[in-house]
Amino acid sequence: MIALYPGSFDPITRGHLDIIERGCRLFDQVVVVVFQNSSKKPLFPVTQRLDQIRRSTTHLPNLEVDSFDGLTVTYAQIRQATVLLRGLRAISDFEFELQMAHTNKTLATDLETVFLATSTEYSFLSSSVVKEIARFGGPIDHLVPPAVVLDIRKCYAKNPIGSALTAEDSVRLTPEAPPTGCRPMPPGSAG
Ligand code: ADP
Repeated sequence: MIALYPGSFDPITRGHLDIIERGCRLFDQVVVVVFQNSSKKPLFPVTQRLDQIRRSTTHLPNLEVDSFDGLTVTYAQIRQATVLLRGLRAISDFEFELQMAHTNKTLATDLETVFLATSTEYSFLSSSVVKEIARFGGPIDHLVPPAVVLDIRKCYAKNPIGSALTAEDSVRLTPEAPPTGCRPMPPGSAG
């Protein structure tokens, strides 16, 4: 059974990773699908988000990472996926997620949305929270996979409001490190 895990992942957090790992235990194959999401101004371009997810999930053999510009149900049909995996953090997620699940059901009756409840330690965590902390130089190591920490610090190091690189980061900022095409936004506009 193939399950899609669609989202913006701007950037992937430890909360996303927890859902991905649990999904990989439940389904034969999980495909993380990065969508542009026209209603949000992304920090990272899609190519960089794909790279971040791939570098964070090398331990999961039944995981694939892809991007798509279109309807989730269209991608599901192309991949013959029968499950849409989504995470639920709080009541605030529920209304939107239920609406999406019902909408998708009207578009593809054989596609089932499966919700995984967040692990309690990540119930507060969102990509927006990470960006807000990073913008002001706070610690994010406990919130995102290691593969993402350096990208975010590099991004905000270019920004006057952004975080200072630690001495350790400066050493790790080698030419092999992936280029960052991020677009930091002004305070208070985290997407
Ligand atoms: P979207 O733009 O579709 O909301 P996100 O990248 O924000 O994409 O989230 C993708 C999915 O991951 C959503 O189902 C969201 O509820 C879920 N999710 C996000 N953060 C967490 C978390 N900390 N714990 C569990 N699920 C989460």
